[in-house]
Amino acid sequence: MTSQQSGALRHVVVVGASLAGLRACESLREEGFDGTITLVGAEHEIPYDRPPLSKKVLAGEWEVERIRLRKADDFESLALALRLGVRATALDTHARTLSLDDGTTVVYDGLILATGASPRRLPDQPLLAGVVELRTLADSVNLRDRIAGDTARVTVIGAGFIGLEVAATARALGCAVTVLEGAPSPLIRGLGVEMGAAVAGVHARNGVHLRCGVQVASLEGEGGQVTGVRLGDGSLVASDVVVVGIGVAPNTQWLVGSGLTIGDGIVCDATLSAGVPGVYAAGDCARWPNAAFAGFDDQEMRVEHWTNAAEQGAAAARNLLLVAGGGEAEPFSSVPFFWSDQFDSRIQFVGRAHGDDEVHVFAGSTDGAFAALYGYQGRLRGVLGVSMPRMVMPFRALLAANATWAEALAKAASLTAG
Ligand code: FAD
Ligand code: NAP
Repeated sequence: MTSQQSGALRHVVVVGASLAGLRACESLREEGFDGTITLVGAEHEIPYDRPPLSKKVLAGEWEVERIRLRKADDFESLALALRLGVRATALDTHARTLSLDDGTTVVYDGLILATGASPRRLPDQPLLAGVVELRTLADSVNLRDRIAGDTARVTVIGAGFIGLEVAATARALGCAVTVLEGAPSPLIRGLGVEMGAAVAGVHARNGVHLRCGVQVASLEGEGGQVTGVRLGDGSLVASDVVVVGIGVAPNTQWLVGSGLTIGDGIVCDATLSAGVPGVYAAGDCARWPNAAFAGFDDQEMRVEHWTNAAEQGAAAARNLLLVAGGGEAEPFSSVPFFWSDQFDSRIQFVGRAHGDDEVHVFAGSTDGAFAALYGYQGRLRGVLGVSMPRMVMPFRALLAANATWAEALAKAASLTAG
């Protein structure tokens, strides 16, 4: 589609130079958009992949250059106007302008918001050397250098994805690792209590000291360096490094007052439109009603995983072009998928998990490799595999087709037969 064919669309601005933002730019070019694309990114880096930041890069096994999402010359072929190291600070949807923190203003015809999310901090988190979060390449290199000597006592606060992946990497390097979690088992939000407990076994078998149901009272330090984590019962977990992995908040503060609806993410319609002509959102910052989960009470969702960011970036760009060309935007309906590598285990999940789901282990055993179905009110809602890759992806199409629990059981039986 040339810029003439796409109506008045001559300049598209993409805010957020990471996975969703890059996929949006790629999709615009693939669909034939030959107008100007400006990519605005707060980080100085050209887009890179975050999953290795808690795994291969953190372990020191991969060089930083290996994680670029496109090689430098390949990236140049997209012919983007780059504004890296620059943060968007305000949006005026009537004037179609974006203010940037270098004092400049950009006028857009189409806008894609892909600003992702940032780590949450503990209340009153002190500024101490050795207390770190993990979101960016710089964070990963900093933490890598702190744990490389294999003698560090590493304490991780939060047994979510960051916490458990960092724990596994640091432990494999030889560090003494303690994970502190307030909930009764790890990964409750991602997997539910029962299966979270099964993942806890992976860590126990590998020598991670995983302590659930504990409250963190404060971080303690001496001479500006962290020395430990004080717990609610008064005891101290002595630490050289403390990793705070207690979740993320979508990067939407700068949009307050823009007229867009913000509520734990940029609230979009089914097509990823942010409710204002020419403005779409994608990735960790976007909340939308996912038709694949119509009828469930969590149909409106915000997903914080790689596959969703990649798919939504491309879909938002396509819809922007479709509407500008006089067509109709298509709903973004997708079954979420994520993976997580911890020690030798690869956790994979398709769909969604909730505390009230029925969980049925259909292959293997929870003290090793296994696969489980998650269902609610007679419908399949998700499928988990721990080191069972072939047992998970076949269910993605079934989930997209709103499969019943009985259909899921039949599929599980066919996969495990013979
Ligand atoms: P982000 O990657 O967060 O990028 C948003 C970008 O926007 C950032 O560069 C930010 O600086 C920029 N930005 C923010 N505000 C502004 C502004 N106002 N102006 C300009 N720029 C702005 N998912 C999986 O499925 N499997 C994994 O194994 C996995 N591992 C992970 C490991 C780590 C350490 C992390 C941090 C995440 C991991 N994820 C994984 C999640 C996955 O990486 C994210 O879901 C994905 O990066 C989201 O992409 P995004 O483009 O929406 O947002
Ligand atoms: P997360 O998965 O939301 O987990 C945060 C964990 O911290 C939860 O278990 C939470 O428990 C706990 N927590 C919250 N406050 C706490 C406190 N004060 N003390 C102790 N525990 C506390 O977030 P994350 O692990 O920080 O990961 C950050 C982001 O990166 C997420 O978007 C995640 O999806 C993404 N990521 C994904 C992958 C992957 O997909 N493989 C890997 C790494 C990172 P409650 O739920 O009870 O609050």
